[in-house]
Amino acid sequence: ADARQRSYTIAVLPGDGIGLEVTPPALRCLEAAAERFGFTLNFRHFEWASCDYYLKHGKMLPDDWKRLLQECDAIYFGAVGDPARVPDHISLWGSLLRFRREFDQYINLRPCRLMRGVPSPLANAKPGSIDFLTVRENTEGEYSSIGGMIFEGTERETVIQDTVFTRVGVDRVIRYAFERARARPAKKLTSATKSNGISITMPYWDQRVAEIAKEYPDVKVDKYHIDILCAHFVLRPHIFDVVVGSNLFGDILSDLGPACTGTIGIAPSANLNPVSKRTDPDWKPSLFEPVHGSAPDIAGKGIANPVGMIWAGQMMFEHLGETEAAAAVLAAIENVLGDAQDRLQKGGEDVLTPDMGGKGTTEGLGKAIEIALKTSQ
Ligand code: ATP
Ligand code: MG
Repeated sequence: ADARQRSYTIAVLPGDGIGLEVTPPALRCLEAAAERFGFTLNFRHFEWASCDYYLKHGKMLPDDWKRLLQECDAIYFGAVGDPARVPDHISLWGSLLRFRREFDQYINLRPCRLMRGVPSPLANAKPGSIDFLTVRENTEGEYSSIGGMIFEGTERETVIQDTVFTRVGVDRVIRYAFERARARPAKKLTSATKSNGISITMPYWDQRVAEIAKEYPDVKVDKYHIDILCAHFVLRPHIFDVVVGSNLFGDILSDLGPACTGTIGIAPSANLNPVSKRTDPDWKPSLFEPVHGSAPDIAGKGIANPVGMIWAGQMMFEHLGETEAAAAVLAAIENVLGDAQDRLQKGGEDVLTPDMGGKGTTEGLGKAIEIALKTSQ
């Protein structure tokens, strides 16, 4: 028996659009898992970090947002954005990107896993054959704001933007990726580079990978230039285990990976500050969200796929150390999607949402996963 009091406070920020629709069924799934595995979730619901809040208050966040989030063990985020009413640079920069900076969430982690029942654009890919993680540096690199224009308005007009790699920034993401690789059966790390074209910063990145690799003799390491790496994602995705990239390369790979394994509606994402001990003075909350946005085109119709949000909760469980519950959530998702696809192929009723080829609803699919969590062993 576990003597530990396992109780977690979760900040719930549904945001906008389909974020508001996928959050309630996802919370019910997490509740079901928590009950089954004997821990407690205390949800703190916040309506800020949404465009409705912005239109009412003229700001995306209340003044005490940092304290409110820092009091929670994790942040569970739906989607933000309502471009018809609020420009994206206000909604996005005023919420998610502030959290990322303030809480130094320097890792963006996304699993790519081809599941039974999920149609993949890769015609020959078999369920189970693709199962890897992308690890993206989330704070520096190519996305620095250093640079500007010279000779503006003349024929010599020139724009420059610098890439910034700091030793601390590069080492911490590479080391995190090695740790993830070490904890997996295949123990393999692939680094994204472009040191044949980008001749100062990327060789530095490669050099830091090679240096840190010495601390992980049990992990197999390889590197690919980003162009051929993208090709391999599509043509040979089964060769990957953990893939690490700079902010720009990681951004590209962390969208391409989920795209190869099916609809955008199922993929989850974690923005992590990996300091895991709540008692550590450097501890800050991490954020878990679906990869998809607020999807204004389907918002209000009740047909958004809730799996991305539920799977994000699965990543949150892993981060909180509730690995059994995390495994159960993943199994429930896979079983429900796989069985539903089997029924659909036979012409029967199904719970799959339209993005997966079915006629199901957000509520219906969420409910099916919740029931699977309550009934399976
Ligand atoms: P961002 O929020 O990063 O700006 P975006 O607005 O370009 O992204 P999304 O809001 O994710 O993108 O929507 C892209 C497309 O995918 C839309 O056509 C949307 O309907 C569809 N889509 C997104 N999420 C889901 C989902 N959960 N279920 C079904 N379809 C989805
Ligand atoms: Mg959007």
